[in-house]
Amino acid sequence: MDDFRPDTPSTLRPETRAIHQPRPDIEGSRSISMPIYQTSGFVFDDPAVMAEAMGRPDGAYVYGRYTNPTVRSLELAVAGLEGGTSAIATGSGMGAINTVLLGLLRPGDHLVAQRSLYGGTAAMLNDLVDRFGIEITYVPENDPAALRAAVRPHTKLVYLETISNPMTLVADLPGMCEAARELGIVSVVDNTFATPLLCRPFEHGADIVVHSTTKYLSGHTDVVGGIAVFAAQDLYEKVWHFAIELGATADPFAAWLTLRGLQTLALRMERHCANAHTLATRLAEHPAVTAVHWPGLASHPSYELANKLLSGCGGVLSFDLAGGRAAGERFMSSVRLALLAPSLGGVETLVLHPASTSHRALSPEELTRSGIGEGTVRVSVGIEHPEDLWADVSQALA
Ligand code: PLP
Repeated sequence: MDDFRPDTPSTLRPETRAIHQPRPDIEGSRSISMPIYQTSGFVFDDPAVMAEAMGRPDGAYVYGRYTNPTVRSLELAVAGLEGGTSAIATGSGMGAINTVLLGLLRPGDHLVAQRSLYGGTAAMLNDLVDRFGIEITYVPENDPAALRAAVRPHTKLVYLETISNPMTLVADLPGMCEAARELGIVSVVDNTFATPLLCRPFEHGADIVVHSTTKYLSGHTDVVGGIAVFAAQDLYEKVWHFAIELGATADPFAAWLTLRGLQTLALRMERHCANAHTLATRLAEHPAVTAVHWPGLASHPSYELANKLLSGCGGVLSFDLAGGRAAGERFMSSVRLALLAPSLGGVETLVLHPASTSHRALSPEELTRSGIGEGTVRVSVGIEHPEDLWADVSQALA
């Protein structure tokens, strides 16, 4: 029998009983699906236990900004998939990235980042320079020698993306993370595009993995979230103390949706990768297309690294149209099944124009440096039937 607490005395008036409802302490069984703990805080019997819980990440649940059983379930699930010790779930991918960067950097610190990055991250790095006096050196994602040459006495971090947004360059994680370790700097890897199903950066020496769980991990375009996963407990605890002050916490319902999406991640990733392979191969042969950026193609600069590091090349590809921006705009307004929309990693195919949307904060030089052209179109390939997808893409190209 469930123990319902408190056992509300019948002497209380209805106005009071409506507020102080009994809550079950379930014993002897547990739910199949993780319940949504939709509460902002937790009740204690012992003031000393409550005081203690506030000061440590592994204490009793105390307050929703710290964590919550539904959120913790997501943290444990993703930490387990990545092979990390612990995780901090956040309200968005940028929340996870900022929790890590702001939690570990101080004014005057130096960080090294790869050149080709998600536009929001690139904009945040520019802000770190302008507003917090942090210095940044950009290096290619596959050049440990450039990383070694860039390091200064006050370098704290190297920031990488397993597969970069939107040019799908694959980072040399073993080379870059090993160099970081030798130099005593923390390596942070955004694994959003790969997911732990295609690559686990901790196996290649990374210290922290971040995700926009908005994308493949939740997978159904119905939630915004993020997570930072830690290889070692000491780094987790350091960032955790800052995270509870920053307050970029995940919401229990968003965590629950993400947990549900996670259950089908493996099946979805198989289909995303297979569909992207079909589209990339056919686009590469199309006369209107000048280049296709997908690391599973032999023509892609990361083809060999992708073969070595990834167990699938992901569901995002970009391609350049011969007709430049006008052709890109025509393509995006001609697709019927694919949707012109932001974000990626959901079951439906989405297209967008990076230069004017996801990467609009980049200067023309930064766009060129990242390889993003006026005619570049990004496709987040969904899990529809591949022939329906190709029929849509080829009619839009025509
Ligand atoms: N990292 C990558 C690779 C992304 O593509 C995105 C968003 O597109 C983010 C981080 C930011 O995630 P969010 O939009 O959930 O804040």
